[in-house]
Amino acid sequence: MADGSGQGTIETTALIVAAGSGERLGAGGPKALVEVAGRPLYRWSLDACRRSTRIGPIVIAVPPGRSGEFADEDVIPVDGGRVRSESVAAGLAEVRTEFVLVHDAARPLVTPDLIDRVIFALEIEPDVDAVIAAAPVTDTVKRVDAEGVVSATLDRAELRSIQTPQVFRTEALRRAIEGGDLENATDDAFLIESAGGRVSVFDAPPTNIKVTVAADVAMAEFLLAHSPDAP
Ligand code: C5P
Repeated sequence: MADGSGQGTIETTALIVAAGSGERLGAGGPKALVEVAGRPLYRWSLDACRRSTRIGPIVIAVPPGRSGEFADEDVIPVDGGRVRSESVAAGLAEVRTEFVLVHDAARPLVTPDLIDRVIFALEIEPDVDAVIAAAPVTDTVKRVDAEGVVSATLDRAELRSIQTPQVFRTEALRRAIEGGDLENATDDAFLIESAGGRVSVFDAPPTNIKVTVAADVAMAEFLLAHSPDAP
């Protein structure tokens, strides 16, 4: 939670999206509640938001009807939607601050420092609607057609692998969501881009992984055990 020691002045709500079904993980229940390094997955992100110097209120989009399992006195639970952006839209209805920071519950390696830095980056870029965490691409990336035949090799220097946290001017995200293609948005910055807004990337470590399949749990546990920022 904000403790008054942060440098900035713009209040930011954290919106943690935790309403995914976790089908690809195959845990038989919501991914956010799967135990990772001794605690439910979503709690790593919640803890990082609490330790940030810049976050005020915390909203969590949870699987519909399961808010009791995410109960915490300092968080506002909302029922999530069918697709990720619908969960963001539901959470946004509870946001009253000028900035909102959206973060996947599935990224437990996020640190308070990364959260604070993306917020500061938006604060100092008045012409930008969003700042998003991004890592360099180390693999060679090719475009392939429906038959699996390569049609192009992309210039790796121009590519970034996009993560969360993503911080937005709240009103810009609200407008982008209102008219946006929520079904096909794999991140929220896409909605801003589609609406003609400006999005900047912020260099983040590739270790800020998303837990998607079972092997990612083992990787996340290894990384958390070696993270100087883990509580
Ligand atoms: O499905 P994916 O791994 O891309 O989900 C990223 C994040 O979005 C996860 O933290 C997941 O819980 C969340 N999500 C959500 N509501 C959905 C689908 C995903 O909050 N309907």
